[in-house]
Amino acid sequence: MLTRAAPLAITPPDLERDYRWAVAAARAAADVPAVGAEAELWTVRGWVDVAVGCAVVGSAATVVGLDDVVRETGVSYGWRFAQRLRLLREQWGPVPRWYPECGPAPVEADGADRREAVRASRIVADFCDALAAVRGPDKPATWPADTGELICRATRYRPSPTRAFRVVECDIDPGLPGRMWMRLPQGATVLHLTRRPLGRAAIVRTGIHEGAHLDHLLAAPGPIEFGAGLLAAESYAMAVEILAAAECAARGEAELTAMLRAGLVERVGRLPGGIPERAARGWPSAALRAALATGSSRFAGLTTLADTYVVGPLRLLAGRTPILPPELEQGLGRRWHAVTDAFPGALALAEAVAECGWTPDTETASGAARPSSPDEGRR
Ligand SMILES: [Zn+2]
Repeated sequence: MLTRAAPLAITPPDLERDYRWAVAAARAAADVPAVGAEAELWTVRGWVDVAVGCAVVGSAATVVGLDDVVRETGVSYGWRFAQRLRLLREQWGPVPRWYPECGPAPVEADGADRREAVRASRIVADFCDALAAVRGPDKPATWPADTGELICRATRYRPSPTRAFRVVECDIDPGLPGRMWMRLPQGATVLHLTRRPLGRAAIVRTGIHEGAHLDHLLAAPGPIEFGAGLLAAESYAMAVEILAAAECAARGEAELTAMLRAGLVERVGRLPGGIPERAARGWPSAALRAALATGSSRFAGLTTLADTYVVGPLRLLAGRTPILPPELEQGLGRRWHAVTDAFPGALALAEAVAECGWTPDTETASGAARPSSPDEGRR
């Protein structure tokens, strides 16, 4: 069941601006570094987020923009993301005939060639095992039940925290949006879903992870919500999670350490193509056993994106990929360097990554450097 989000309606309607926003966002969502069914799935997944943005903005001009890009792109398949897209689009009237169909579940490619994902899974699992040994006089905190307050309270766990974002309450089915952070015509926004109570785990999911996305969104000039930009965004948010876990471990904050550990285990467990099974073979690790037990199909067919949650932060922490605005990279680097002296598990992770011999990634994803024109940072 879906009802319309409370429209922002803070600024006067600007149909031209709303249309331009939707067209730019929908085109960015279709610009993914993948091919075939993966590219189609990833594109439609991005359009779901654009459609959520349309509902939040509450302007029919945004939907016209989304419709135009869906038609010009010609994507025909979207599996469960197509179903979500259609549900959101139905709120504005009949779904145009050119919208993608659901189709069957994706056929999972064998992950034999994804050695980097296997190696990264083992490194993250070893780090998780070090986190599991953390004991300390935990001081259970009370966390706010409001998204905006939670993100502001979590600033100590993020190296470059911002407070320059707006929070919009939405009465949207929590199963529909893929993410809560987005850049709307009105600026950086995070959604507070009125139907999803914020439990204790929200300090990690919302305060730290989505907070890191907002920090990145405010610092990056290019689009980071879609395609290659999203790979940079998830690499950064996951690096912030790993940093936060190491810092909490060093301070003996046992409850938060355990929650961050569970999140990392979940990211390994959902890697498609049998990666957790390959990683666990001949590699004794409680975290890998837990990952196998929690495996989910949430990222079925989205190999590149799923791998990024595990490989991306390690490359970032090793300084192997120049995908961040300099101030974010320096803030992360400083804190990470400090925590490798304070928590042995962090030092072990850094040494294991250094041994991988990963070559520097010279490609620049969206949001890395400041482009002189709006399109220059795109890929
Ligand atoms: Zn994320």
